[in-house]
Amino acid sequence: SLAEKLQSTFKKLRGKGKVSEADVAEAMREVRMALLAADVNLKVVKNFVAKVKERAIGQEVLDSLTPGQQVVKVVHEELVALMGGTSSKINMSQKPPTVIMLVGLQGAGKTTSVSKLALYLRKQGRKPLMAACDVYRPAAVKQLQVLGNQLDIPVFSMGTGVNPVDIARGAMENAIATGRDTLLLDTAGRLHINEELMGELKNIKSTVKPHEILLVVDAMTGQDAVNVAETFHEQLGLDGVILTKLDGDARGGAALSVKAVTGCPIKFVGLGEKAEALEPFHPDRMASRILGMGDVLTLIEKAQASMDTQMARDMEQKLRKAEFNFEDFLVQMQQMKKMGPIDQILGMLPGMGNMKALKDVQVDDKEMKHIEAIILSMTQEERQNPQLIKDSRKRRIARGSGTSVQQVNNLLKTFDQSRKLMKQFSDMRGGGKKGKNKA
Ligand code: GDP
Ligand code: MG
Repeated sequence: SLAEKLQSTFKKLRGKGKVSEADVAEAMREVRMALLAADVNLKVVKNFVAKVKERAIGQEVLDSLTPGQQVVKVVHEELVALMGGTSSKINMSQKPPTVIMLVGLQGAGKTTSVSKLALYLRKQGRKPLMAACDVYRPAAVKQLQVLGNQLDIPVFSMGTGVNPVDIARGAMENAIATGRDTLLLDTAGRLHINEELMGELKNIKSTVKPHEILLVVDAMTGQDAVNVAETFHEQLGLDGVILTKLDGDARGGAALSVKAVTGCPIKFVGLGEKAEALEPFHPDRMASRILGMGDVLTLIEKAQASMDTQMARDMEQKLRKAEFNFEDFLVQMQQMKKMGPIDQILGMLPGMGNMKALKDVQVDDKEMKHIEAIILSMTQEERQNPQLIKDSRKRRIARGSGTSVQQVNNLLKTFDQSRKLMKQFSDMRGGGKKGKNKA
């Protein structure tokens, strides 16, 4: 993956006490190849590499105590800039209802994203109404109604024999009449961009005058996603992009090129099929993920959303200082379950995203139960000082938890690795002293 390639390039650089211009040039060649392989737009790659190179061979980098890390820092900063710098919010209208229109090609994830976004906004205290304006596929109306039922969010529909413009207008009136402050329009897509589609969307736009038009694109389609975004933006004028299916093996090209090519910011990313799998897009965090610096901030936010703040604060402290032990782990396991798929959470921890060994661990719900049982079979002393757990204790714990010594070993190893990684990460953030990142 892109992250793996970049990380191996930078590992070489970081390890060096002295970095020459030739080292930088070599690293940039690798960066260039990695970005192209990730399906990043060629022009974007050229500009990016030129910028980084110019900054990286400057004297303040090469003469610094930690030139390798300085180069990584430059790359990080330029990645952030490439993706738009700061995160962008949805335009909310002073006068309700705020109308948000989702557009895009068939299968991009519009209907799913409408429901995800409605849930996200409700969590922020808003009262969403979803409207089914896709009248071409009978199943589309039903799909939105099912999602609305599951989330307990109202859906406005007029069936399929109606002009979508009339549905949008009706939905607007309904939102006002029922006191809903946010209206989300689920529109129809087509397999390809054509005049019929654009005509219909333009009509809806001029009728209800949305405060926000978001294009939904599938990250897996790489540069095509960027081309689609360009055309939609020209024809319709977009306020932002929702990039879906970033949980799959998308090569990352779309995330890196959309803003640079179209000028439209990515506002949200879809990370799964579930209603909770939508996150605001943060360029700095995305850059950190790509460079394997982990995504502790997102993790903390997720934790905060699902546990009380005092607990989240404690967890943040402990994660940062890498002081947590099995006891904390156990207390938080229940909470962690609420945070989402565990492999995604692990992926956000620094350095874990691309750790082959950890990926193979495949922590699913069953595995979680085993882990819980293993920790419960430890004594309080063992939970606080896992290094006490040697052979005979391992056998006792395995027996007590109905697992094998190997499973106990695996957990100890994973736990130890993650503690080390977090320690390293917090050193990197806070310190900047020499020779810290030889991992
Ligand atoms: P639409 O035609 O644009 O309305 O697309 P849908 O919302 O019906 O989504 C098409 C398919 O993509 C469905 O099977 C969704 O579950 C799936 N999907 C949407 N967003 C995501 C995502 O972020 N990750 C994954 N893995 N699947 C997604
Ligand atoms: Mg749909």
